[in-house]
Amino acid sequence: MESMTLKILYNKEVLSGHFRLGLEWKAPAISAGNFLMLRVAEGLDPLLRRPLGVYKALGSGGMGGCLGVELLYRVVGRGTKILSLKEPGEHIDVLGPLGNGFPDPGRGKKAVMVAGGMGIVPMYMLAERLPSSTLLFGARSSQEAVIADDFKGLDCKIKVSTEDERATARGRTGFTKWSAPTGRSSTARI
Ligand SMILES: Cc1cc2nc3c(=O)[nH]c(=O)nc-3n(C[C@H](O)[C@H](O)[C@H](O)COP(=O)(O)OP(=O)(O)OC[C@H]3O[C@@H](n4cnc5c(N)ncnc54)[C@H](O)[C@@H]3O)c2cc1C
Repeated sequence: MESMTLKILYNKEVLSGHFRLGLEWKAPAISAGNFLMLRVAEGLDPLLRRPLGVYKALGSGGMGGCLGVELLYRVVGRGTKILSLKEPGEHIDVLGPLGNGFPDPGRGKKAVMVAGGMGIVPMYMLAERLPSSTLLFGARSSQEAVIADDFKGLDCKIKVSTEDERATARGRTGFTKWSAPTGRSSTARI
């Protein structure tokens, strides 16, 4: 883990209040579940770094390294608002990578990943590592659920449940409706 100054490659709003932040990254190697601590402003306000998970490793830098990392974040308060205003070409102070990552489920085992909202962030690199996995993703709304579309390019089954659909699922509390991208759905007790 080290502190470094990284160049911002892009910082794009992809969905209302949700941004993809690309950072130039050379080393050390990143693994699924790692997160970074970002100093969003110079000076003492805001004082604390903001933690954000690594969503994707960009390109291949050889020796298991990469050329950049992509973070995915939602603007919830002052720190993430300041971050959302940063432009490509600016630099940002980052500490990381931090976090223990995920245990290896073992050869031939299939993983079921369960994530809600921004909890989806560490799952992308995990799904890349674990073929034939399943992602159960809970989102606030059908609009937010499109975040899971990224996983369609991976060998990963996706089931999505949204709070707005669940509210209309015939009032059956304790049940949620998991919709597959094919439009088929199943109901499971949670
Ligand atoms: C290990 C780790 C990894 C994380 N990874 C990601 C990530 O990949 N993407 C991402 O978007 N977020 C992630 N978060 C959450 C992110 O760090 C916070 O949303 C961020 O620090 C908020 O900073 P802020 O200054 O914008 O909000 P603050 O000013 O600190 O908070 C403003 C208001 O928002 C509320 N708030 C704070 N955080 C959240 C939240 N997560 N959800 C809802 N309300 C909140 C606070 O209670 C407060 O009322 C992660 C958190 C941790 C601990």
